[in-house]
Amino acid sequence: MISTLQGLEKAPILTKKDFIQSGSTPRQKARFHRHTAGSSGTPTDVWLNRNELGRMLGVRDYCYRHCGIRVGDREGRIWGRPERGLKSIIKQFLLNRQVFHPSGRFLKEEVERLIQWRPTYLYGYASLLLECAQEVERSERSIPGLKCVIVTAETIIPSQKAFLGRAFNCSVHEEYGASEFDIIAFECGDGHRHLVNPWLIIESGPEAQALVTDVSRKTQSLIRYELGDVLQMNSTECHSLGDHQVISVLEGRLSNQFAVTAQSEKFHAVEFGHIIERYQSDFGDVFQFTFIQDVPGRFRLECSPIPEQGIEVVARYVEDMILRKTGYSIQVITNKEPNRSEKKKTYFVAGDT
Ligand SMILES: [Zn+2]
Repeated sequence: MISTLQGLEKAPILTKKDFIQSGSTPRQKARFHRHTAGSSGTPTDVWLNRNELGRMLGVRDYCYRHCGIRVGDREGRIWGRPERGLKSIIKQFLLNRQVFHPSGRFLKEEVERLIQWRPTYLYGYASLLLECAQEVERSERSIPGLKCVIVTAETIIPSQKAFLGRAFNCSVHEEYGASEFDIIAFECGDGHRHLVNPWLIIESGPEAQALVTDVSRKTQSLIRYELGDVLQMNSTECHSLGDHQVISVLEGRLSNQFAVTAQSEKFHAVEFGHIIERYQSDFGDVFQFTFIQDVPGRFRLECSPIPEQGIEVVARYVEDMILRKTGYSIQVITNKEPNRSEKKKTYFVAGDT
């Protein structure tokens, strides 16, 4: 049992694996259960009592009010394939939510259905929101009455975020959360990702990995719980939302941090994000991208949609910029057809090397 901050500093790190093995069975009577597949591929069981769930919803409502909406407002959820069946229909109805999957051959049809639904806000994955925004812009449509877009679960670069704002003609907020805690940080109007849950203590661990402690949780013990994402904290003068502490850098999974060169040396994969950000603002183009480490020194680039200048131009630009910024000569090979079946949380996927 931890009762002081000093005690917390000495507490061991709780990995997801340890949590599943030992701590994930509820210690107290829990009414609410959430089973998640988990972005890292490890399924996790989260148990909550009524108070714990209430606190999470309270934090969510606090963030939503900041965007001029409320929990329970009409939601367009831009997600994976919608569930079918009566149980799901009732659930969506009670939540005042419709799920859309605007991608691939369903794109036009789903965007049409979304416009008909007239959501107050959109909530979903960056990649699908971008695909949806591109279709909305291409077809010169709009979603009447839309107040904001909340992006969750995937890394998004500033030029992509700005594009979402233009295409949907509303504010865009990034949410950082986890199924174990719900919202951890939420973006204010000035672009800071403020910590918003007063019951959570967020630390940056020895490998800059996020460690989260929930001081209010009784049903399950979550102390220095390792989320697996890499982040840096900073503090800001901005008081518009939550805490003065903000997440200044958020870089996705710990395992996807480093690109390996042909000389078996490493550079930080965030370089790819910075270079594409620069490319997109130089050329006024917006697309999604993933770099996959193929062999040391070689990276497979996938873009969707195909960049205006062609994907080869992007590949040469990246090779050139990596050489200039890091001194490493790398090879970027391209995939004409992106592999849609691979769901990725970040824009870089490390190899087995
Ligand atoms: Zn702020």
